[in-house]
Amino acid sequence: MKQKCPVLHIVVPCFNEQEALPHSHERLSKLIEEMIAQGSIGAESKLLYVDDGSRDNTWEIIEKLSSESNRVAGVKLACNSGHQNALMAGLAAAVEHCDITVSIDADLQDDINVIPQMVERYRGGCDIVFGVRRERKSDSWLKRTTAGMFYRLMERLGVGTISNHADFRLMSRRTVMALLDYKERNLFIRGIVTKLGYKTDCVYYDRAARIAGKSGYPLRKMLNFAIDGITSFSVKPVRMVFMMGVLFLLIALIMLIYVLTAVALGRSVSGWPSLILSVWLVGAFVLIGLGIIGEYVGKIYIEVKNRPRYNIDTTVGLD
Ligand code: UDP
Ligand code: MG
Repeated sequence: MKQKCPVLHIVVPCFNEQEALPHSHERLSKLIEEMIAQGSIGAESKLLYVDDGSRDNTWEIIEKLSSESNRVAGVKLACNSGHQNALMAGLAAAVEHCDITVSIDADLQDDINVIPQMVERYRGGCDIVFGVRRERKSDSWLKRTTAGMFYRLMERLGVGTISNHADFRLMSRRTVMALLDYKERNLFIRGIVTKLGYKTDCVYYDRAARIAGKSGYPLRKMLNFAIDGITSFSVKPVRMVFMMGVLFLLIALIMLIYVLTAVALGRSVSGWPSLILSVWLVGAFVLIGLGIIGEYVGKIYIEVKNRPRYNIDTTVGLD
């Protein structure tokens, strides 16, 4: 059982959100006041807005909200650094002042009414509670299908993400600290979080449409994000190159048999046997060579990321 009245910080990354932010703030601050009144979270709980180098009035709005209420804090990044980095900045700023964080997008497409449920699960002993969308009717067809394909691909590659979970989640203080130990530049937080260990749970909700403003994730950014997700967690694509090489070698063998029969039956032209065999053999060796080099590059990649080796849950008799 966790402590009774944890201090909650809700971390909200904002990029050009001047239209959505006032609405979102109204709903979030209402929720936080209610939760404090009910005694489910501590009185020092706050909303922390991270301005990810917006080019509109987002920061002015955050400053104004903060001057009006001591429940609001803000962090302004010097330039647009991307959603994942903005989220990390917010978590890093929040972690020293709170027991639990909830991260949520500024457009409130995720249902804030499950936050009390998340806190409940935390008090029941969970360290991470994932918000999972039940359906995504409100997203465009393109977004839905590409996201579906992406989650399936990630699963195939063994990346272990939670389907239909974006970055709406509760994290306890120690899991945020553990997350901050992952120093890699290519951040794919939702892949790391499932690897931290610790007890996790899910709460389910329906995803709404954006309150106002427009998506800061056009197709180009989404693709980059997907590629980051795959390449940060999996060296399987390199193995595929190697397997292709092996396949080519097999084809070369089949070609050898084919060529020999053709020659024996007198159905071959001069120059063709050596040419066709070289094509497949050289191709096979190049691919196998690339695969081997790729294995080493993959190892270097893993070392360079310098990820923590483990996270400790509890200890006994070690004071
Ligand atoms: N965001 C950000 N930096 C960016 C792009 C987006 O901090 O470069 C924030 C944005 O303000 C929002 C969240 O990330 O709070 C999710 O973005 P968005 O809603 O535009 O993406 P979608 O829900 O369409 O995937
Ligand atoms: Mg959104």
